[in-house]
Amino acid sequence: MANKACARDHRSWGRYPKIRQQKVVPVYWRDDQIDLSAIDGTILPYGLGRSYGDSCQNEGGTLIDIAPLNRMIAFDEDAGLLRCEAGVSLADILKVIVPRGWFLPTTPGTKFVTIGGAIANDVHGKNHHVAGTFGRHVTQFELLRSNGERLICSPEQNAEMYRATIGGLGLTGLILWAEFKLRRVPGPFIASEQIRFRNVDEFFDISAESEHRFEYTVAWVDCLAAGKQLGRGLFMRGNHAWPNKVPGKKAGQRSLFTVPVDLPWFALNMVTARVFNTALYHSQLGKSKRKVVPYDSFFYPLDMIHEWNRLYGSPGFIQYQFVIPFDHDRSAIKSIFKQISDSGVLSLLSVLKVFGDVPSPGMLSFPRPGVTLALDFPVRGQHTLDLLDRLDRVVQDEGGAIYPAKDSRMSAQGFQSFYPQWQDFSQYVDPKFSSSFWRRVTRTTE
Ligand SMILES: Cc1cc2nc3c(=O)[nH]c(=O)nc-3n(C[C@H](O)[C@H](O)[C@H](O)COP(=O)(O)OP(=O)(O)OC[C@H]3O[C@@H](n4cnc5c(N)ncnc54)[C@H](O)[C@@H]3O)c2cc1C
Repeated sequence: MANKACARDHRSWGRYPKIRQQKVVPVYWRDDQIDLSAIDGTILPYGLGRSYGDSCQNEGGTLIDIAPLNRMIAFDEDAGLLRCEAGVSLADILKVIVPRGWFLPTTPGTKFVTIGGAIANDVHGKNHHVAGTFGRHVTQFELLRSNGERLICSPEQNAEMYRATIGGLGLTGLILWAEFKLRRVPGPFIASEQIRFRNVDEFFDISAESEHRFEYTVAWVDCLAAGKQLGRGLFMRGNHAWPNKVPGKKAGQRSLFTVPVDLPWFALNMVTARVFNTALYHSQLGKSKRKVVPYDSFFYPLDMIHEWNRLYGSPGFIQYQFVIPFDHDRSAIKSIFKQISDSGVLSLLSVLKVFGDVPSPGMLSFPRPGVTLALDFPVRGQHTLDLLDRLDRVVQDEGGAIYPAKDSRMSAQGFQSFYPQWQDFSQYVDPKFSSSFWRRVTRTTE
């Protein structure tokens, strides 16, 4: 319900930049003759609009709304293989599989995303260091091209199109349905531990120590902290828990509330952000806190506030996520934190995680070994954009990359250096498919 209500305006989650599509065409039946060639201009599939920037937008063109393609097709309970239409959301899947003792192979920080969107962005979760990306668990899918061709793609069949479509940003055709592997779980609970760390070095120590013992790891960072506290935060780690450890607990999560209106932009400022970050950092009394919690509150804390993106007001916000390879003295990530905290630019909700070396099957997938940081920046004009340009240069010098699913502003030159494989990928792009993002980042850069 809630996910549908949020998505129907067909904007992106960050609501920046403001883009108008010419038309939205819903798809209801996967077996219908869907004539994509009859649509004027360019087309792009649209799931639940949980991409932050313009990779799910198609200015002046058509969006194919796949949310009505929301039926389960088959479940092989012995093999843990689920087949469903591309518009089925992770929330709908969890409702069906968790009571049967199964779980998603990996999940992003919101369950209001479709399977089509999860494949097209090859999403990652807190278990990237052991499970890799979502695409790694996809056994096959059906792709409709604008010439009417329907391709079954798997690691064996149409294998190149399979690799191009995973992480392919919706540009290779319309995914109608997909099949993927689930993982067994003992129940709906997570045995979690939250540890306070004083700076970036302590984060890396806890992360290295957690990697082999915990399936899920991630950290919140107070990116306004400076000096000896640069990069301080809270480290969260967890494993699926056995039911006998959680007597009398209920696993369901209720949504607390929906943000009813856009917050005035001035309500969020450096003072309120500092107060919020300091309060969060000191929210736990001891160094570490252990709890057995329902999976929902561990994986999807933000989903408890529907339409929380409205808290940033009508100018919207930019999410900035990058990955950089490890360096021995951690100087690059420290220099990024320092630039942010010195800049005076407002940033909230920073998430830090170490990616593992499990390879992504996708040609254009974002995750790679190293450390990844995601930050929310309310849009406050050129000052914000200038800082992000400076951070781009550090990411580029370090041989890292920016995540297209979160992007709304990286330059064509930046994209082409982060993803040198983009030209190979281009040969798989369907001639009728395009996006605002794709047109922006594939401009000639000479
Ligand atoms: C709170 C929050 C937390 C998040 N956490 C994470 C995270 O931890 N890790 C992570 O990786 N991402 C994360 N994301 C990003 C989100 O998971 C991805 O952007 C996801 O792909 C969005 O899916 P969607 O269904 O909303 O698709 P949309 O945003 O609508 O579209 C995403 C892309 O998929 C394409 N697409 C959609 N359906 C199809 C189809 N049927 N066929 C072909 N292409 C299709 C679109 O063209 C577009 O390029 C987060 C987002 C939010 C809002």
